[in-house]
Amino acid sequence: MTNPSSTPAIRFNQVSRHFGEVKAVDQLDLEVIDGEFFAMLGPSGSGKTTCLRMIAGFDRPTSGSIYLYGQDVSNLPPYERSVNTVFQDYALFPHMNVGDNIAYGLMIKKVPKDERTKRVDEMLDLVQLKGFALRKPSQLSGGQRQRVALARALINHPKVLLLDEPLGALDLKLRQQMQVELKAIQKRVGITFIFVTHDQEEAITMSDRIAVFNQGKIEQIGTPAEIYERPASAFVAGFVGTSNLVSGEVAKRVTGSDQTFSIRPEKIHLGTSNEATPAGMVSLDGVVRDVIYLGLYTRYLVEVAGGIDLVVVEQNLKTTSMDVLSIKGQKVKLHWHKDHISRVGA
Ligand code: ATP
Repeated sequence: MTNPSSTPAIRFNQVSRHFGEVKAVDQLDLEVIDGEFFAMLGPSGSGKTTCLRMIAGFDRPTSGSIYLYGQDVSNLPPYERSVNTVFQDYALFPHMNVGDNIAYGLMIKKVPKDERTKRVDEMLDLVQLKGFALRKPSQLSGGQRQRVALARALINHPKVLLLDEPLGALDLKLRQQMQVELKAIQKRVGITFIFVTHDQEEAITMSDRIAVFNQGKIEQIGTPAEIYERPASAFVAGFVGTSNLVSGEVAKRVTGSDQTFSIRPEKIHLGTSNEATPAGMVSLDGVVRDVIYLGLYTRYLVEVAGGIDLVVVEQNLKTTSMDVLSIKGQKVKLHWHKDHISRVGA
């Protein structure tokens, strides 16, 4: 990657996009850093795609401005922005072979044939499809089509590449493999990638930073670890991974304040009821209400005082399914480190 520019790749200044009563995007401020792999994560209808479409120029803000490397592009048509988009359905031309699909952008720009061939070869190399130039899209697997779409979008060296649920059509195994490849390709080309997803695991795996969307606004922006370890709101805690929210009297007993806090299931240790509280830890008594054996780990549902149920996850390091299932109904003590809680808004 080259030295990142200090000018943000993308900047939103109070951007709104309203469709009648629907505030699809509402007074959004956002900066995407040059060269980063940036995820827009959120539930269906939270405004991610609308943001992507406004960056591409397929849609315009109702109010506010969008800057691409410092230039106000709010009113520029798509073809005057150095931005390309990879769509979930790939949008390849079925009658053209792979090489021609990838070269399409260069043909439009009337780049000479020799130069086109050279750059198509480079792209085929980048996406590991050497030898596939003469195949038709119908003769490719889903993952291979996705790579062709990527090569076609990158051949013009856009400043920013937008990806709308790029791996959505792939099965889980291929999806996980492509997550790693996509990240590696982004590192090699050094172009700013912005991708939309509703899959939190995908966002955590690939991104340098994640913006969590909810109802047209961003609830939190941060690195995957920040978003996961320090969720800023109850919404983020619930949407990204599984989280236990504790409030009221129980929260007060643990932290001295009745402000709601979140604690991740894997941070909680399940101990015997007579176990002493280790230094630096807090503990709560509880009763195991349910046990779900999942092979790699076991998920326990533990009821603590105040009728609150906490989810606890433990790896099955030494335990067998028989061991863990026998815990159901037993009294236990839950411990976790004081630093592992995160205070969140209600
Ligand atoms: P998904 O993950 O389902 O694609 P999203 O987070 O990308 O969802 P958007 O597609 O940006 O969400 O939609 C945000 C809101 O704006 C939704 O309520 C949607 O119905 C509305 N919306 C989007 N486009 C239009 C349109 N052209 N006309 C009217 N409403 C629209």
